[in-house]
Amino acid sequence: MRVIVTGGAGFIGSALVRHLVLEQGHEVLTIDALTYAGNLASLRAVEGHANHRFLHADIRDAAAMQAAIHDFRPDRIMHLAAESHVDRSITGAADFIMTNVVGTFTLLEAARDYWNGLEDKAAFRFLHVSTDEVYGSLSEDPQALFRENTPYDPSSPYSASKAASDHLAKAWHRTYGMPIVVSNCSNNYGPYHFPEKLIPLTILNALEGRELPVYGAGENIRDWLYVEDHARALDLIAERGVPGETYNVGGRNERRNIDVVRRICQVLDRLVPTPRPREELIRFVTDRPGHDARYAIDASRLENELGWRAREDFDSGIEKTVQWYLDNGWWWRPLRDGYGGERLGLLEKTA
Ligand code: NAD
Repeated sequence: MRVIVTGGAGFIGSALVRHLVLEQGHEVLTIDALTYAGNLASLRAVEGHANHRFLHADIRDAAAMQAAIHDFRPDRIMHLAAESHVDRSITGAADFIMTNVVGTFTLLEAARDYWNGLEDKAAFRFLHVSTDEVYGSLSEDPQALFRENTPYDPSSPYSASKAASDHLAKAWHRTYGMPIVVSNCSNNYGPYHFPEKLIPLTILNALEGRELPVYGAGENIRDWLYVEDHARALDLIAERGVPGETYNVGGRNERRNIDVVRRICQVLDRLVPTPRPREELIRFVTDRPGHDARYAIDASRLENELGWRAREDFDSGIEKTVQWYLDNGWWWRPLRDGYGGERLGLLEKTA
């Protein structure tokens, strides 16, 4: 199997590339523009591997995408390249529109040109990887869950740009008949997560005895999924998902942000004891505008139709993640400068 992964130097993309190359034995071409979020160090496990190639290219570059796809002749394209950080989308939406919307369009067109020339058109798959944030916000009623038919209602420039790209992917299936599948996943966590995101930011700030910024009162609920569970789900959806369909991915691990931060403090206090409990470092900061209250996924379609199950529960996953950051300073230290919260403006707004 020959697979193109866009965004493969990012957090989820690199977990997917490791899974496809090292566990599944597929031949992979990673395409990535290496923005601030892309990092070749995240692909160290496949560096020099006979089944892995890397192409430094931008998905907005139509000629580069045409050439890469026609040269590599993939059986599958798994599209993860995106601008992904909600806070950045609020202060600078342009990159989100250009990469997530225009870039996805450009990639779809290059893929369509290649697919048109294939003899066995039905064997090809294009997987568009997206987020549950396209569905907006849920009430606290535990029965309320995001399902594949939940109407789109995005709140942030990030989720609006992802919603637009989902619609493009679905339209390219309906209009041109391309075998495209869409997946919408909840919040991921795990190794190689860029230090601006809640979980790695909290682990590293707590480790260094710095403030732990938490938006609002920390009541916002997210449904956390260990990144390797997501990588397995994406492989399965690309292999067995029905073209034109959507699959929601989530691990049934709902947690309030404040409970996530407290849990990380407890794990770190046990693994690296300090005189004072790290929970004392928590600082509540002015809430993010348009901050969705709750996300929670109903993954029963993926579980029942494709037989996927999340393997990691939150407690075991967070323990593994904290331990990974303790063991892998070589990866995060060069990225850390300014990402203790200052660069994001989080600490200036301490309430
Ligand atoms: P990330 O920010 O860690 O990685 C994105 C990667 O895309 C980076 O390597 C970056 O260099 C690359 N990239 C950005 N713009 C590009 C461009 N124009 N051309 C080529 N490459 C470009 O993001 P992530 O968290 O790994 O998310 C990957 C995908 O999964 C995204 O599409 C995101 O919307 C989706 N997703 C993320 C989560 C999550 O919790 N992180 C949850 C659900 C879905």
